[in-house]
Order: sequence, then C-alpha cells, then structure tokens
Amino acid sequence: MRAALAGVGGALGRSYPLIVGGKRIETDGEIASLDPSDPSRVVGYAGRATEREADMALQTATEAFGSWSRTTPEARARIMLRAAGIMRRRKFELLAWEVYEGGKPWSEADAQVAEAIDFLEYYAREMLRLKDGVPIYAVPGEESRYFYQPMGVGVVIAPWNFPTAILTGMASAALVAGNTVVMKPSEFTPITGALVAEIFEEAGVPDGVMGYLPGYGSEIGDYLVSDARTRFVSFTGSMKTGLRINELAARQVERQRWIKRVIAEMGGKDAMIVDDSADLDSAAADIVKSAYGYSGQKCSAASRAILHADVYDEVLGKVVERARGLKIGAPESADVSVGPVISEPQFEKVSGYIDVGKDEGERVLGEDPGDPKNGYFVPPTIYAGVDPGAKIAQEEIFGPVLSVIRARDFDDALKIANDNPYGLTGGVYSRNREHLERARHEFKAGNVYFNRGITGALVGVQPFGGLGLSGTDSKAGGPDYLPLHMLARTVVERF
Ligand code: NAP
Repeated sequence: MRAALAGVGGALGRSYPLIVGGKRIETDGEIASLDPSDPSRVVGYAGRATEREADMALQTATEAFGSWSRTTPEARARIMLRAAGIMRRRKFELLAWEVYEGGKPWSEADAQVAEAIDFLEYYAREMLRLKDGVPIYAVPGEESRYFYQPMGVGVVIAPWNFPTAILTGMASAALVAGNTVVMKPSEFTPITGALVAEIFEEAGVPDGVMGYLPGYGSEIGDYLVSDARTRFVSFTGSMKTGLRINELAARQVERQRWIKRVIAEMGGKDAMIVDDSADLDSAAADIVKSAYGYSGQKCSAASRAILHADVYDEVLGKVVERARGLKIGAPESADVSVGPVISEPQFEKVSGYIDVGKDEGERVLGEDPGDPKNGYFVPPTIYAGVDPGAKIAQEEIFGPVLSVIRARDFDDALKIANDNPYGLTGGVYSRNREHLERARHEFKAGNVYFNRGITGALVGVQPFGGLGLSGTDSKAGGPDYLPLHMLARTVVERF
C-alpha cells in the first residue's frame, strides 16, 4: 500500500479527457479534482462535458447499441469477469487513488474496491443465470418462453462516496445486460471514474458501448436525463437530485417512444436501536463503527442512535468513550480511522448542522471544525438528548455527526426510527426475540441488521437498497437487480 501511495502520489495532476466512441475528447473547460486532506493538491484534471459532448455521447451509445445488444450474454459476462481480474491486479493502485481523491482511510478504500470487484463477478454470473430466461408454465399444444432482452442507452450517474464500487456496479449491470452506457461520475471524483472507464476498455468493452462523461450535474444532468435517446437512468445520490431525475424522466419528449425507467438509490437517516436486553459493549462498538466509517459519508451510516431509557446513560458513555479514541487525520497514514469530508461544500454543510445541533442537543463529543484550507476535517461529533423531531435527527447530514435519542421502551424506539422520510438501513441490538421479530417486519428500512453494524453491505449476501424516499428499492447486488436493466418478453408458439 505504501508503494502504491508513492507511485500514485507521483502521478497526481494529470489530465483525463472524456472518452466517447473509444476516442479521447478534449473539452474547453476542465474539472480540477482536489485532495480533501490537502485542497491545495490537485489529484487530476478531468474534462468538463457540455451539452455538445453529452449529445455526442448519447448518439454514439445509440449507434453502438445494435451490435452490443446482439453480442452474446456469455461474451458480455466474460468481459466483466476480465474487468474484475484487472481490478484485482490493480487493486492497490486503485486504493491509493481513493485515498487521495476520496479521502478514504485504507480499510474503507479496500472495502470499496473489493465491492467493485464483487459487483463485476456477481452481475456477470447473474447474466449467465438469466440468459435463457426463466421457466414458466405452458398449455398443451403451445410452447411459452419468457426471456429478457436489453433496453437501450442507459445514463449512469454516480455519487462521490463510493466512486469505484457504485460506478462500476451500476455500469456493469447495465452493460452485461446488453445496454450501452454513458457514465457521469461525480464532479468530486472524476479521476477514479476515469480509471473505471479505462478498466472497462482494457477488459474489452467495445468502443462506443461505454462513454466516460465527466461534467457538472448542474450543466449536463438535465440534458442527459431528458433526452429522447435515453432509455433508462441508473442513479445513486441525494434525495433531491433523485427526485428531480425521476420527475424529468417521467416527461415524454418529442420522438420518445418509451416510458423511461429510473433506478434511483438515494439518501438515508439510518437508525440503530438498542433495547434493555442488548449486549451493550457490542452495541456501542457497532454504533461507533457505523456512524464514523468514512466520516459518516455513507448512505447506510448510523446517524441516529435510539437508546432504551434504562440503558441510555451506559450506552451513551461507551459510545462517547470509543468515538473519542478514533484517530482523525490525512488517510495516507495507515493508522487514521477518520479522514476528511469530501469537499468544501460538504464541509460547510456539515459545519452548519453542527451549529444547528447546539440548539437541539447537548454536544458530548466534538468541537467546531477548523479552517477548511487545512483540509476538510470534521471531528467525530455526538449530540445527546436530541428530540426525535429535531432537524439533526430528521435530515441527512452525511458527516461524522451522531444524534442520540432516548426512547421510553421498544415500541417508542421503533416509532422514532420509522418516523422519518428515508428508509435505507436500520439496526436493532437486542436479545429479545419478540423485539427482533417485530423489527423484522415493522422497521421501515430496505436493509435491517440485528446485533451488528449497519454499513458495508456485501454483494450477493446483503442486497442493498432503500424504502421510502431512500430510493426505488432496486437492491444492488441482489437477484432482482439485473432484470431492472432489461425488458421481459413473452413469446408463445402454437404447434
Ligand atoms: P448528488 O449531489 O445528488 O450527486 C449525485 C450525482 O448526481 C453526481 O454525479 C452529480 O453530479 C449528479 N447530479 C447533480 N445534479 C444533477 C442533475 N440535475 N441531473 C442529473 N444528475 C445530477 O449526491 P452526492 O453528494 O454525490 O452523493 C451523496 C448522496 O448519495 C447522499 O445523499 C447519499 O446518501 C447518497 N447515496 C446513496 C446510496 C444508496 O445506495 N442509496 C449510495 C451512496 C450514496 P455533480 O457531482 O456534478 O453534482
């Protein structure tokens, strides 16, 4: 890892143009991607697409669809497996880019790249499972077949917090299903996006089938989503952007002959409940891990701890003690557990919530963040005694800020957890079987975890996606995901 950090450290500051039809396309503007631990350091310069290049990318993907959609599923799957192999080979290099561009501690970067590899492997094998369709019944004298075919051009819009895993996952599912894609990475992690694009190319994705289109969402997002050539949008990001995409995609534009499909995975305000029967040490350890992994910048992060009144003081004390032990700093160093937040806007947003929290709870850990010029560092922060309806208990902060809420009993805890527009992940720490069974059915979250942390969903093991305003519940890394990228056909022949 140290050698990779040194190697990548010497390669910072290069330019990464757009990729359309296999060609490198230079743009008038550029996006400077900064190291969040040291914003004076430029990680790289990415192209900055305008509507002109977005048009070019959609047209190229439209033209490439014919041949790619007829390429056999086996051949497409083989390319994804090859991409997984390349990622394994380049793993430490990818981790190092994550450290510099994403501000990720080593273990977080490692989990992220491992997840990208898992997505490639899993979707490739899922395609092989589904390539001949699925069995259905037939009536005497007829043959009935039910199978899937590719949809068309997919616009893949990714967030910055899992720039390798989520971009790779969304794009590989679309590609292996026979669609062509235009990939738009986040403005904050376009260099990682360029590496993903290079790996797809090296693995053998033909020219034109995958476009790499860095650019600002505010400049090209609406265009990509609204265009008549776009068949579906695969989005992961905030609720606000997801809802806008959903609304725009629903409007039919001239020459559009389909209802666009939107796969949208959005934010969360995830809660962990601890009842009076729980193992309190384990609960505290997992709350801290789930709240502060990647500085709380995970859609699955625990941002609310809802504690039964009888164990409230004890759990709170243990959580504060453990969180105080976290080492904050630049993640180039192996022993850092909490790095910076991703960007200046994110730093300002989280700092704003820390101010709001001063009126909404008692700050039992953390201090005001320092000067962002020295890196976007925000110390792990805990507000205790927070009202369930408070702003910091209701809105997604997406930073290292935990709101601790007191519940009268388990019923009250579940009610507090569910009284939120989001529904992504949730956890219950309990030894009470009745409580766990109630939560199994009543906890409003797409991913519910008992007696463990609530982040780090494993591909193929914990299919991931949210309820409520957390998204369309598409369950990435699960058996229902690939069919979202395909059209189902029923063909019946009478003998
Ligand atoms: P974001 O601001 O919504 O941005 C996500 C992507 O959308 C970026 O590529 C962004 O481009 C683009 N975008 C912005 N405006 C757009 C528009 N009008 N049309 C089309 N695309 C547009 O979210 P983020 O800050 O990158 O990511 C953090 C959010 O993602 C959090 O809310 C987190 O909970 C959520 N998230 C959810 C999941 C999940 O699986 N449910 C996983 C990870 C993250 P720019 O970067 O250029 O603005």
